[in-house]
Amino acid sequence: MAENMNGSLVAAILSPQPEIAQTFVATLCGADVPKGQVQVSGLGGVVVEVPPIEPLEVMVEHVKSADFSVMLLRFVDDATLEIALAIMRALPPNVQSAVHIAIVREQGEGEFKMSCPQCGQKLMIKDALAFRRTQCPRCKHPFTIPGQADLVRRKFLIPQEGTVSRVLSGDVESCLNALRVAHRQSGGRRAEMKSTTMRLDSLIIDNAGGTIS
Ligand SMILES: [Zn+2]
Repeated sequence: MAENMNGSLVAAILSPQPEIAQTFVATLCGADVPKGQVQVSGLGGVVVEVPPIEPLEVMVEHVKSADFSVMLLRFVDDATLEIALAIMRALPPNVQSAVHIAIVREQGEGEFKMSCPQCGQKLMIKDALAFRRTQCPRCKHPFTIPGQADLVRRKFLIPQEGTVSRVLSGDVESCLNALRVAHRQSGGRRAEMKSTTMRLDSLIIDNAGGTIS
């Protein structure tokens, strides 16, 4: 893995709401700075950085040069998700798959914001109501309330075995844990590519695109 000059890993902290990413860095570094360094057990020094979201090309360069990235989501309404998905789509596929998604909550918060699947009305949903049937107060469309993590998995095509971390705003341990999971997610992928060997010498592709032995 690439290391910066003082030997630390670099983590890009992304969010459709830049202030959420900023709070994450401030929680870890104890100061309201866009970039700082933190010691993470098992990883050593990690430089955490909030790249600018715009222009997109500059953001992409920051994320590509980072060792791993975390995307922090608090609200999962359509408008917020559209920004998050636009950030993801701007990244090359191999970088995209290494972005770890984490849900951010305020301490003691037991509800989340999503959109009505029919009319897009923003709705505050209590966690306790997940998996129950309800009706949009605006358009009366009936729907089953998703869990917030399930909704995130669906929108970002995260497989069931993939982890969606949970970060408590201002809580150092949950921020450190998200960094460790993000590092594992990116490292596992790269290590797997390096250790896999494919044998090609016995395969000859004929003109029709099939194989002959
Ligand atoms: Zn509706």
